[in-house]
Amino acid sequence: MGWTLQELIDAGMSVTAGCLECHRHQALDLPALRDRFGADESATEWDLRPKMKCAVCGGRRVTLTYSPDTSPKDLYRKSR
Ligand SMILES: [Zn+2]
Repeated sequence: MGWTLQELIDAGMSVTAGCLECHRHQALDLPALRDRFGADESATEWDLRPKMKCAVCGGRRVTLTYSPDTSPKDLYRKSR
């Protein structure tokens, strides 16, 4: 896969970060990441993972799960 942040958004994908320390899961705010890193920023797991930090415990050992977004209305609300 060679996704950029914009391509993930356009494809309606959602990315969930899971913390290996405290086992919390949180959906990433892709439009916010795009605004922060740029639309052309590579969004593959190995590119994004070093940028991620657990919001709960601050742990940096996170996994990323990519899945098709099942709530397109929510996607449009956030990105348009
Ligand atoms: Zn954590």
